[in-house]
Amino acid sequence: MKYVIIGSGIAGITAAKTIRSLDSNGEIHIYSDEETLYYPKPKLFDLIYENLKARDIYYYDSFWYNSNAINLHLGVGIRKIDAKEHIILLEDGGTIKYDRVLLANGASTFVPQIDGVYTPGVFTLRNISDAFKIKRHSLLIGNHKPVVVIGGGVLGLEAAHAFMRNKLYPTVIESFPYLLPRQLDKEGADILRGIFENWGIQIKTDSFIEKIEGNSNIERVILSNGTIIKAEMVLLSTGISSNVDLLERSGLPYKKGAVVDDYLQVTEDVYAAGDVAEHRGIVYGIIPPAIEQATIAARNMARPGSAVYDGSVPTNTLKVAGFDFTSVGNINPDEKDPQYEIIRAKAPVEGKYRKIVLKDGKVEGIIILGIKGEAVIANKLVKMHTDVSSYKDKLRNIDFSLKETSIIRE
Ligand SMILES: Cc1cc2nc3c(=O)[nH]c(=O)nc-3n(C[C@H](O)[C@H](O)[C@H](O)COP(=O)(O)OP(=O)(O)OC[C@H]3O[C@@H](n4cnc5c(N)ncnc54)[C@H](O)[C@@H]3O)c2cc1C
Repeated sequence: MKYVIIGSGIAGITAAKTIRSLDSNGEIHIYSDEETLYYPKPKLFDLIYENLKARDIYYYDSFWYNSNAINLHLGVGIRKIDAKEHIILLEDGGTIKYDRVLLANGASTFVPQIDGVYTPGVFTLRNISDAFKIKRHSLLIGNHKPVVVIGGGVLGLEAAHAFMRNKLYPTVIESFPYLLPRQLDKEGADILRGIFENWGIQIKTDSFIEKIEGNSNIERVILSNGTIIKAEMVLLSTGISSNVDLLERSGLPYKKGAVVDDYLQVTEDVYAAGDVAEHRGIVYGIIPPAIEQATIAARNMARPGSAVYDGSVPTNTLKVAGFDFTSVGNINPDEKDPQYEIIRAKAPVEGKYRKIVLKDGKVEGIIILGIKGEAVIANKLVKMHTDVSSYKDKLRNIDFSLKETSIIRE
């Protein structure tokens, strides 16, 4: 059996490992248009503020690939899949045959078509090459210069923090009324904002970009209300678009991403997982679902029909400067809906906030801000829909740790 995996990100690597654990004789080939070995994307920030080489963030060395008999083809993009003939056309004009193929070719940063978005000094951050471009530009402009991050999501905030560590002065611009709109509520976001502002990071919410201006380099960002923000570098952190171009060229079905069924199958012998995959209308765009999907897709590639994917509980984390933030599951339900009950606990001065969303007494979602060591338990409570009715009063106290409870064993 010959398995071909397109993309060597977390989805591709997880699938290769899983297939190898189920099929010791199968031929496994990974094709990547990047020249680098697999690296976890959160490590890209380290490349920006530390003096590291690409290989310093590789997760496995080449010995690991050899010992697992995983054939890695770096710098080789895939042009097209002929699903009927089971043939793949490479970007270099070559062709290969496959028995089963996994699309694990991820996503790219969504680039909003703002006036001036292609001015030199405007960057996106998706891979090692992007990180080095940003690093070089930071060194070029020097310390204590203003920079703008467009997008106040997890990635935008981490980038702003990395810029701050590089002695730059970041401003984060978010169109939504508060930070992390998909992972936080207003109360939590206000606390988070205070923490970032204390670090010297400017935050502008409810703000829309009118245009980006500059000639040989970006000079300023202009908001729709006329505010001018000086900037010598801009990072676009404006969400992702799945890399559907390969599906388009191959005549395979896609909407936001590659449309997969509960077996993670696109069509016969073609599977998809990770940021490229759209399952029940959702492209998750984060690591935990990419791992879950890749594992299930790989099981089905090795043994068709053997594993079913029922969706993932979205989990987001932000870990900067020893500050912890985790958001799991449904954290912003309609509070007027009587099925839901919200338990909040907070200590804003200490930068602490916890929100627990209950549906019929069972945990549906949790936000934890500035509280250490509760992320794992929070994940379990949400995933197991644990009934916490008997702990409600205790949970209203911010000093009561989820870890101190026996909830998780119930
Ligand atoms: C800076 C940064 C930080 C992040 N931090 C977090 C975090 O803390 N937590 C979290 O959950 N998520 C985080 N994410 C999101 C997370 O990294 C992605 O969800 C995850 O990488 C998706 O994995 P993937 O394997 O599906 O795709 P990718 O990691 O995008 O890998 C796809 C690979 O396929 C290659 N490829 C594309 N097209 C082709 C082609 N035609 N032929 C061959 N190869 C191709 C790409 O170049 C890429 O190497 C972060 C993302 C970024 C950019």
